[in-house]
Amino acid sequence: MDPSLGEGELGRLDDVTVVLSGARVLFIGPDAEAPAARQELDATGCLLMPGLVDCHTHAVWAGSRGKEFRRRLAGVPYSQILEEGGGILSTVEATRSAGEPTLTELAVDRLQRLQARGVTTVEIKSGYGLEPATERLLLQVAKEAGRRVGLKVFTTFLGAHAIPQAFRSNREAYVAQVLEEQLPIVAPYADFIDAYIDRGAFTVDEGERILRAGSGLGLGVRVHAEQVTHTGAAAMAARLGALSADHLEQIDAEGIDAMAKAGTIAVLLPGAQAYLKDAPPPVGALREAGVPLAVATDLNPGSSPVLDPWIAATLACISMGLTVEEALLGMTARGADALGDSVRGRVRVGGPADVLVVAPPRGEPVEPEGLVQYLGGTRVRHVIAEGRLVD
Ligand SMILES: [Zn+2]
Repeated sequence: MDPSLGEGELGRLDDVTVVLSGARVLFIGPDAEAPAARQELDATGCLLMPGLVDCHTHAVWAGSRGKEFRRRLAGVPYSQILEEGGGILSTVEATRSAGEPTLTELAVDRLQRLQARGVTTVEIKSGYGLEPATERLLLQVAKEAGRRVGLKVFTTFLGAHAIPQAFRSNREAYVAQVLEEQLPIVAPYADFIDAYIDRGAFTVDEGERILRAGSGLGLGVRVHAEQVTHTGAAAMAARLGALSADHLEQIDAEGIDAMAKAGTIAVLLPGAQAYLKDAPPPVGALREAGVPLAVATDLNPGSSPVLDPWIAATLACISMGLTVEEALLGMTARGADALGDSVRGRVRVGGPADVLVVAPPRGEPVEPEGLVQYLGGTRVRHVIAEGRLVD
Protein backbone atom coordinates (compact mmCIF):
# COMPACT_ATOMS: atom_id res chain seq x y z
CA MET A 1 0.00 0.00 0.00
CA ASP A 2 1.67 3.13 -1.24
CA PRO A 3 -0.14 5.90 -3.10
CA SER A 4 2.71 6.05 -5.60
CA LEU A 5 2.57 2.34 -6.44
CA GLY A 6 -0.83 1.01 -7.43
CA GLU A 7 -4.48 1.73 -7.79
CA GLY A 8 -6.56 4.37 -6.06
CA GLU A 9 -5.82 6.60 -3.14
CA LEU A 10 -4.24 3.73 -1.20
CA GLY A 11 -2.04 2.54 -4.07
CA ARG A 12 -3.53 -0.92 -3.96
CA LEU A 13 -1.85 -3.80 -5.80
CA ASP A 14 -3.48 -7.21 -6.20
CA ASP A 15 -1.82 -10.65 -6.24
CA VAL A 16 1.70 -9.61 -5.35
CA THR A 17 4.44 -11.15 -3.27
CA VAL A 18 6.35 -9.01 -0.82
CA VAL A 19 9.83 -10.11 0.25
CA LEU A 20 11.51 -8.66 3.31
CA SER A 21 15.20 -8.82 4.04
CA GLY A 22 16.42 -7.82 7.48
CA ALA A 23 14.64 -4.64 8.43
CA ARG A 24 13.95 -3.60 4.80
CA VAL A 25 11.46 -4.40 2.05
CA LEU A 26 13.44 -6.15 -0.69
CA PHE A 27 10.85 -6.90 -3.37
CA ILE A 28 7.23 -6.20 -4.34
CA GLY A 29 5.94 -7.91 -7.47
CA PRO A 30 4.70 -11.07 -9.16
CA ASP A 31 5.39 -14.28 -7.25
CA ALA A 32 7.25 -15.79 -10.24
CA GLU A 33 9.90 -13.06 -10.03
CA ALA A 34 10.24 -12.99 -6.26
CA PRO A 35 13.63 -13.87 -4.76
CA ALA A 36 13.69 -16.98 -2.60
CA ALA A 37 12.85 -16.49 1.05
CA ARG A 38 13.71 -18.47 4.19
CA GLN A 39 10.30 -18.15 5.75
CA GLU A 40 6.93 -17.71 4.05
CA LEU A 41 3.66 -16.28 5.33
CA ASP A 42 0.53 -17.00 3.32
CA ALA A 43 -1.55 -13.84 3.14
CA THR A 44 -4.06 -15.17 0.61
CA GLY A 45 -7.42 -13.51 1.12
CA CYS A 46 -5.88 -10.83 3.32
CA LEU A 47 -4.56 -7.31 2.95
CA LEU A 48 -0.89 -6.62 3.46
CA MET A 49 -0.42 -3.05 4.54
CA PRO A 50 2.06 -0.75 6.29
CA GLY A 51 2.53 -1.00 10.04
CA LEU A 52 0.46 1.66 11.78
CA VAL A 53 2.03 4.94 12.86
CA ASP A 54 0.50 6.28 16.07
CA CYS A 55 1.76 9.86 15.89
CA HIS A 56 0.34 11.25 19.16
CA THR A 57 0.48 9.41 22.50
CA HIS A 58 1.30 10.05 26.15
CA ALA A 59 2.20 6.39 26.73
CA VAL A 60 4.52 6.74 29.75
CA TRP A 61 2.71 7.33 33.04
CA ALA A 62 1.90 5.72 36.38
CA GLY A 63 -1.23 5.79 38.50
CA SER A 64 -4.92 5.40 37.83
CA ARG A 65 -7.61 7.83 36.71
CA GLY A 66 -10.39 5.27 37.21
CA LYS A 67 -12.11 7.21 39.99
CA GLU A 68 -11.98 10.36 37.87
CA PHE A 69 -13.61 8.42 35.02
CA ARG A 70 -16.51 7.58 37.34
CA ARG A 71 -16.81 11.20 38.46
CA ARG A 72 -16.82 12.52 34.92
CA LEU A 73 -19.52 9.99 34.01
CA ALA A 74 -21.50 11.37 36.95
CA GLY A 75 -21.25 14.84 35.42
CA VAL A 76 -18.42 16.48 37.40
CA PRO A 77 -16.67 18.88 34.98
CA TYR A 78 -12.99 18.28 34.24
CA SER A 79 -12.19 21.88 35.28
CA GLN A 80 -13.45 21.07 38.80
CA ILE A 81 -11.44 17.83 38.93
CA LEU A 82 -8.34 19.78 37.88
CA GLU A 83 -9.02 22.46 40.53
CA GLU A 84 -9.02 19.73 43.16
CA GLY A 85 -5.60 18.47 42.05
CA GLY A 86 -7.01 15.67 39.88
CA GLY A 87 -6.68 15.16 36.14
CA ILE A 88 -3.20 15.57 34.62
CA LEU A 89 -1.83 16.75 37.98
CA SER A 90 -2.76 13.50 39.75
CA THR A 91 -0.94 11.57 37.02
CA VAL A 92 2.06 13.87 37.51
CA GLU A 93 2.13 13.02 41.21
CA ALA A 94 1.89 9.26 40.61
CA THR A 95 4.47 9.40 37.81
CA ARG A 96 7.00 11.40 39.81
CA SER A 97 6.95 8.85 42.62
CA ALA A 98 6.86 5.71 40.46
CA GLY A 99 10.55 5.22 39.67
CA GLU A 100 12.19 4.09 36.46
CA PRO A 101 11.58 0.31 36.64
CA THR A 102 7.83 0.70 37.18
CA LEU A 103 7.49 3.36 34.48
CA THR A 104 9.38 1.17 32.01
CA GLU A 105 7.32 -1.91 32.85
CA LEU A 106 4.07 0.01 32.38
CA ALA A 107 5.23 1.59 29.11
CA VAL A 108 6.40 -1.78 27.76
CA ASP A 109 2.97 -3.27 28.49
CA ARG A 110 1.19 -0.43 26.64
CA LEU A 111 3.54 -0.56 23.65
CA GLN A 112 3.11 -4.34 23.41
CA ARG A 113 -0.63 -3.87 23.31
CA LEU A 114 -0.39 -1.22 20.61
CA GLN A 115 2.03 -3.38 18.65
CA ALA A 116 -0.27 -6.42 18.85
CA ARG A 117 -2.89 -4.27 17.12
CA GLY A 118 -0.45 -3.29 14.38
CA VAL A 119 1.42 -0.22 15.58
CA THR A 120 5.06 -0.32 14.47
CA THR A 121 5.91 3.37 15.00
CA VAL A 122 4.76 5.46 17.92
CA GLU A 123 5.29 9.00 19.14
CA ILE A 124 5.47 9.39 22.93
CA LYS A 125 5.33 12.68 24.81
CA SER A 126 6.69 13.56 28.23
CA GLY A 127 4.59 15.96 30.29
CA TYR A 128 3.84 13.99 33.47
CA GLY A 129 7.06 15.10 35.14
CA LEU A 130 6.87 18.88 34.86
CA GLU A 131 10.33 19.22 36.37
CA PRO A 132 13.69 18.59 34.70
CA ALA A 133 14.73 15.16 36.00
CA THR A 134 11.36 13.44 35.55
CA GLU A 135 10.74 14.99 32.14
CA ARG A 136 14.08 13.59 30.99
CA LEU A 137 13.36 10.22 32.60
CA LEU A 138 10.04 9.91 30.74
CA LEU A 139 11.75 10.33 27.38
CA GLN A 140 14.49 7.87 28.34
CA VAL A 141 11.83 5.37 29.42
CA ALA A 142 9.95 5.90 26.14
CA LYS A 143 13.05 5.04 24.09
CA GLU A 144 13.95 2.08 26.29
CA ALA A 145 10.42 0.67 26.15
CA GLY A 146 10.48 0.95 22.35
CA ARG A 147 13.82 -0.87 22.24
CA ARG A 148 12.51 -3.68 24.44
CA VAL A 149 9.28 -4.12 22.51
CA GLY A 150 10.91 -3.71 19.10
CA LEU A 151 9.12 -0.75 17.62
CA LYS A 152 10.22 2.68 16.52
CA VAL A 153 9.65 5.43 19.09
CA PHE A 154 9.78 9.16 18.39
CA THR A 155 9.96 11.30 21.54
CA THR A 156 8.40 14.68 22.22
CA PHE A 157 9.19 17.03 25.10
CA LEU A 158 5.93 18.35 26.57
CA GLY A 159 7.06 20.27 29.63
CA ALA A 160 4.28 22.72 28.71
CA HIS A 161 1.54 20.18 29.46
CA ALA A 162 0.08 21.74 32.63
CA ILE A 163 1.05 24.32 35.22
CA PRO A 164 2.14 22.30 38.28
CA GLN A 165 0.30 22.91 41.54
CA ALA A 166 3.30 24.65 43.13
CA PHE A 167 3.35 27.27 40.34
CA ARG A 168 -0.39 28.04 40.24
CA SER A 169 0.10 31.58 41.48
CA ASN A 170 3.27 32.20 39.50
CA ARG A 171 2.93 30.65 36.07
CA GLU A 172 5.69 32.84 34.62
CA ALA A 173 8.15 31.12 36.96
CA TYR A 174 7.09 27.76 35.53
CA VAL A 175 7.49 28.96 31.92
CA ALA A 176 10.97 30.16 32.90
CA GLN A 177 11.73 26.73 34.39
CA VAL A 178 10.65 25.00 31.16
CA LEU A 179 12.85 27.34 29.12
CA GLU A 180 15.91 27.52 31.32
CA GLU A 181 16.01 24.27 33.29
CA GLN A 182 13.94 21.59 31.55
CA LEU A 183 14.66 22.25 27.90
CA PRO A 184 18.49 22.17 28.04
CA ILE A 185 18.44 18.88 29.98
CA VAL A 186 15.70 17.19 27.99
CA ALA A 187 16.50 18.33 24.43
CA PRO A 188 19.13 15.64 23.72
CA TYR A 189 16.48 12.96 24.37
CA ALA A 190 13.70 14.55 22.30
CA ASP A 191 12.90 14.57 18.59
CA PHE A 192 10.14 17.17 18.95
CA ILE A 193 8.76 19.83 21.24
CA ASP A 194 5.05 20.28 21.96
CA ALA A 195 2.91 22.66 24.02
CA TYR A 196 -0.65 22.31 25.25
CA ILE A 197 -2.23 25.63 24.38
CA ASP A 198 -5.76 26.07 25.68
CA ARG A 199 -7.89 27.50 28.43
CA GLY A 200 -6.57 26.07 31.69
CA ALA A 201 -3.22 25.22 30.09
CA PHE A 202 -0.76 27.59 28.33
CA THR A 203 -1.44 30.80 26.40
CA VAL A 204 -0.43 31.24 22.77
CA ASP A 205 2.30 33.63 23.86
CA GLU A 206 3.74 31.25 26.49
CA GLY A 207 3.52 28.33 24.07
CA GLU A 208 5.19 30.25 21.27
CA ARG A 209 8.16 31.19 23.46
CA ILE A 210 8.65 27.57 24.52
CA LEU A 211 8.20 26.14 21.02
CA ARG A 212 10.59 28.69 19.49
CA ALA A 213 13.23 27.82 22.07
CA GLY A 214 12.85 24.09 21.27
CA SER A 215 12.94 24.79 17.56
CA GLY A 216 16.14 26.76 18.12
CA LEU A 217 17.69 23.60 19.57
CA GLY A 218 16.72 21.62 16.48
CA LEU A 219 13.50 20.02 17.75
CA GLY A 220 10.57 19.66 15.36
CA VAL A 221 7.45 21.52 16.48
CA ARG A 222 4.00 20.07 17.20
CA VAL A 223 1.17 21.72 19.11
CA HIS A 224 -1.94 20.70 21.09
CA ALA A 225 -4.18 23.31 19.51
CA GLU A 226 -7.80 24.49 19.46
CA GLN A 227 -9.17 21.59 21.50
CA VAL A 228 -11.48 23.11 24.11
CA THR A 229 -11.41 26.77 23.09
CA HIS A 230 -10.31 28.70 20.05
CA THR A 231 -6.99 30.39 20.85
CA GLY A 232 -5.24 30.94 17.52
CA ALA A 233 -2.71 28.20 18.35
CA ALA A 234 -3.11 26.50 14.97
CA ALA A 235 -2.20 29.68 13.08
CA MET A 236 0.75 30.15 15.43
CA ALA A 237 1.83 26.54 14.79
CA ALA A 238 1.73 27.19 11.06
CA ARG A 239 3.75 30.37 11.52
CA LEU A 240 6.45 28.39 13.31
CA GLY A 241 6.50 25.79 10.54
CA ALA A 242 5.12 23.10 12.85
CA LEU A 243 4.93 19.55 11.54
CA SER A 244 1.51 19.12 13.10
CA ALA A 245 -1.27 20.84 14.99
CA ASP A 246 -3.30 18.31 16.95
CA HIS A 247 -6.98 18.15 18.11
CA LEU A 248 -8.41 21.21 16.23
CA GLU A 249 -12.04 20.85 17.31
CA GLN A 250 -12.26 24.66 17.62
CA ILE A 251 -10.06 25.75 14.70
CA ASP A 252 -11.35 28.66 12.59
CA ALA A 253 -11.01 29.50 8.89
CA GLU A 254 -7.89 31.55 9.46
CA GLY A 255 -6.17 28.67 11.25
CA ILE A 256 -7.15 26.24 8.51
CA ASP A 257 -5.84 28.59 5.84
CA ALA A 258 -2.54 29.08 7.68
CA MET A 259 -2.08 25.33 8.15
CA ALA A 260 -2.80 24.65 4.48
CA LYS A 261 -0.25 27.25 3.36
CA ALA A 262 2.42 25.99 5.78
CA GLY A 263 1.81 22.29 5.05
CA THR A 264 1.13 21.67 8.74
CA ILE A 265 -0.60 18.33 9.24
CA ALA A 266 -3.86 18.06 11.20
CA VAL A 267 -3.60 15.23 13.72
CA LEU A 268 -7.14 14.17 14.61
CA LEU A 269 -7.72 12.52 17.99
CA PRO A 270 -11.18 10.96 17.97
CA GLY A 271 -10.63 9.16 21.29
CA ALA A 272 -10.32 12.46 23.17
CA GLN A 273 -13.22 13.92 21.23
CA ALA A 274 -15.43 10.99 22.26
CA TYR A 275 -14.36 10.85 25.93
CA LEU A 276 -14.75 14.62 26.35
CA LYS A 277 -17.95 14.71 24.30
CA ASP A 278 -16.50 17.54 22.19
CA ALA A 279 -17.88 18.62 18.84
CA PRO A 280 -15.88 17.17 15.92
CA PRO A 281 -13.22 19.27 14.19
CA PRO A 282 -14.29 20.83 10.87
CA VAL A 283 -12.96 17.97 8.74
CA GLY A 284 -14.78 19.12 5.59
CA ALA A 285 -13.13 22.53 5.70
CA LEU A 286 -9.70 21.03 6.47
CA ARG A 287 -10.09 18.61 3.56
CA GLU A 288 -11.26 21.32 1.20
CA ALA A 289 -8.29 23.52 2.09
CA GLY A 290 -5.92 20.61 1.41
CA VAL A 291 -4.68 20.15 4.97
CA PRO A 292 -3.34 16.57 5.27
CA LEU A 293 -5.19 14.51 7.89
CA ALA A 294 -3.51 12.11 10.32
CA VAL A 295 -5.27 10.05 13.01
CA ALA A 296 -3.82 8.95 16.36
CA THR A 297 -4.96 7.36 19.63
CA ASP A 298 -3.80 10.19 21.98
CA LEU A 299 -3.26 7.29 24.41
CA ASN A 300 -3.31 8.80 27.91
CA PRO A 301 -4.90 7.81 31.24
CA GLY A 302 -7.51 10.58 31.35
CA SER A 303 -9.05 12.04 28.22
CA SER A 304 -8.23 9.22 25.80
CA PRO A 305 -7.42 5.83 27.34
CA VAL A 306 -7.42 4.21 23.90
CA LEU A 307 -5.17 1.20 23.34
CA ASP A 308 -6.51 0.16 19.95
CA PRO A 309 -5.56 2.32 16.97
CA TRP A 310 -8.29 0.70 14.87
CA ILE A 311 -10.90 2.08 17.24
CA ALA A 312 -9.42 5.54 16.68
CA ALA A 313 -9.61 4.96 12.92
CA THR A 314 -13.23 3.82 13.09
CA LEU A 315 -14.21 6.73 15.35
CA ALA A 316 -12.46 9.11 12.93
CA CYS A 317 -14.88 7.86 10.27
CA ILE A 318 -18.11 7.73 12.25
CA SER A 319 -17.64 10.72 14.60
CA MET A 320 -15.50 13.01 12.47
CA GLY A 321 -16.51 12.13 8.92
CA LEU A 322 -13.26 10.79 7.46
CA THR A 323 -13.49 8.45 4.50
CA VAL A 324 -12.17 4.90 4.83
CA GLU A 325 -9.14 5.89 2.78
CA GLU A 326 -8.46 9.00 4.86
CA ALA A 327 -8.62 6.98 8.07
CA LEU A 328 -6.22 4.32 6.75
CA LEU A 329 -3.80 6.88 5.34
CA GLY A 330 -4.19 8.89 8.56
CA MET A 331 -2.90 5.93 10.59
CA THR A 332 -0.06 5.16 8.15
CA ALA A 333 1.54 7.55 5.62
CA ARG A 334 0.02 10.77 6.99
CA GLY A 335 0.90 9.73 10.55
CA ALA A 336 4.50 9.27 9.42
CA ASP A 337 4.44 12.61 7.61
CA ALA A 338 3.31 14.21 10.87
CA LEU A 339 6.56 12.87 12.36
CA GLY A 340 8.59 14.29 9.50
CA ASP A 341 9.23 10.75 8.22
CA SER A 342 8.59 10.11 4.55
CA VAL A 343 9.43 6.38 4.49
CA ARG A 344 7.40 4.89 7.35
CA GLY A 345 3.70 4.20 6.94
CA ARG A 346 4.24 2.90 3.40
CA VAL A 347 5.16 -0.48 1.95
CA ARG A 348 7.87 0.37 -0.52
CA VAL A 349 11.03 -1.35 -1.81
CA GLY A 350 13.92 -0.15 0.32
CA GLY A 351 11.54 1.07 3.03
CA PRO A 352 11.28 -0.32 6.56
CA ALA A 353 9.99 -3.89 6.96
CA ASP A 354 7.05 -2.78 9.08
CA VAL A 355 4.04 -4.56 7.63
CA LEU A 356 0.74 -6.06 8.73
CA VAL A 357 -1.39 -8.85 7.38
CA VAL A 358 -5.02 -8.03 8.09
CA ALA A 359 -7.94 -10.32 7.32
CA PRO A 360 -11.28 -9.00 6.10
CA PRO A 361 -14.36 -9.67 8.24
CA ARG A 362 -15.21 -13.38 7.96
CA GLY A 363 -17.27 -14.10 4.87
CA GLU A 364 -16.72 -10.62 3.41
CA PRO A 365 -14.63 -9.40 0.45
CA VAL A 366 -11.05 -8.14 0.77
CA GLU A 367 -11.75 -4.42 0.72
CA PRO A 368 -10.28 -1.57 2.79
CA GLU A 369 -13.65 -0.76 4.41
CA GLY A 370 -13.55 -4.13 6.16
CA LEU A 371 -10.59 -2.82 8.18
CA VAL A 372 -12.47 0.02 9.85
CA GLN A 373 -16.16 -0.87 9.69
CA TYR A 374 -16.29 -3.02 12.85
CA LEU A 375 -15.48 -1.01 15.99
CA GLY A 376 -12.61 -2.88 17.65
CA GLY A 377 -13.17 -5.83 15.30
CA THR A 378 -10.25 -5.47 12.91
CA ARG A 379 -8.57 -8.85 12.44
CA VAL A 380 -4.80 -8.30 12.57
CA ARG A 381 -3.29 -11.66 11.60
CA HIS A 382 0.43 -10.85 11.61
CA VAL A 383 2.55 -7.91 12.68
CA ILE A 384 6.07 -7.59 11.34
CA ALA A 385 7.99 -4.83 13.07
CA GLU A 386 11.53 -3.94 11.96
CA GLY A 387 11.62 -7.20 9.99
CA ARG A 388 10.71 -9.34 13.01
CA LEU A 389 7.49 -11.36 13.18
CA VAL A 390 5.72 -10.41 16.41
CA ASP A 391 4.10 -13.43 18.07
ZN1 LIG B 1 -2.28 14.77 23.68
